[in-house]
Amino acid sequence: MADVNRQGSLDVAQGGVDHTLCPISRSTQIVGDRWTILLLRELSFGNARFDQLLIQAGATPQMLASRLKRLEAGGLITRKVYQARPLRHEYRLTAKGRAFVPVLLALRAWGEQWCKTRGEPLAMVITHSGCGGEVGFDGVCAVCGRQVGGAELLAAPSPQYAEERLNRVRAKTRQPGGEAYQ
Ligand SMILES: [Zn+2]
Repeated sequence: MADVNRQGSLDVAQGGVDHTLCPISRSTQIVGDRWTILLLRELSFGNARFDQLLIQAGATPQMLASRLKRLEAGGLITRKVYQARPLRHEYRLTAKGRAFVPVLLALRAWGEQWCKTRGEPLAMVITHSGCGGEVGFDGVCAVCGRQVGGAELLAAPSPQYAEERLNRVRAKTRQPGGEAYQ
């Protein structure tokens, strides 16, 4: 018991989150770094395999592996074998992981408005599945005027962003040893 208390005091002193009610502190324990966020972005696009996640997140294999482990331990993703020899896994978002998508959309809206220069094209174009209208950063459909979210949102890369992503794949497959991740 004394050990637990000592450990608890240490956590608080070092900014640990074990003894705080703050949900931001607790959630950033799992999703508080750049590579994790980029990984969740890719998983939300349906990218499920290590090699593709690596190419699009731009991380090293070691960085990616440690983030995948943390997300799995945090209950945001599941891992399933899709190939036995050599052993390969697919990663999918769980309900807890999918519940992070609105956070990604909020980051998208903030980044598009505050971290890009005027005239730069959107990365992802989000439309309302019901009427095809484009959905603004406030979640309102430009055509029907409804506030839309969840399964009603369709996301697709703009032509420029699709090209950027394709170039990453091309660059990787051109590199000597690039096949190692295929
Ligand atoms: Zn609409």
